[in-house]
Amino acid sequence: MVIVKVNRKSIQKNPYAGATTSYRWHGVKTTFKTICTEHELIELNNTKGVHIFSERRSENEMVDIDGCIDDPKYDFTKLPGSWTVDSKKDIETINHLPISEYSYKYENPLIECNVCKNKVKLSEIKLEYNYDNTYEICPICESVYSFDYKYEDIL
Ligand SMILES: [Zn+2]
Repeated sequence: MVIVKVNRKSIQKNPYAGATTSYRWHGVKTTFKTICTEHELIELNNTKGVHIFSERRSENEMVDIDGCIDDPKYDFTKLPGSWTVDSKKDIETINHLPISEYSYKYENPLIECNVCKNKVKLSEIKLEYNYDNTYEICPICESVYSFDYKYEDIL
């Protein structure tokens, strides 16, 4: 049995240990509302970087439009209609299990295949997925589960 050791140099204290919330930054999202004519709507549909989410026709033959713009610095004053623009920071909140106190990597030792007796690096052992199961396969002789190893437990 080979013990796959934790690389001592890789051990780091997690600055956010215990946290159950992380944030992912998606940049700035710029949405707009405008009212314009059917003809202007066609022009907007053909404008690069302008995406229309919804169009509502009102009685005076004007169209209420909601959409978003790729570039928040877009000069929408050149576009048809009467515009209101709203820029929001788009930050996603992700909830997860508490972040552990330490993070670390394992070493990549040579492990002998019980069948063909070749030594293979841990990272070179093939994994195959079949429905819900994962199989370890020797990259040389294709035997299944022919390596005997265990990960060191440091906690
Ligand atoms: Zn083998």
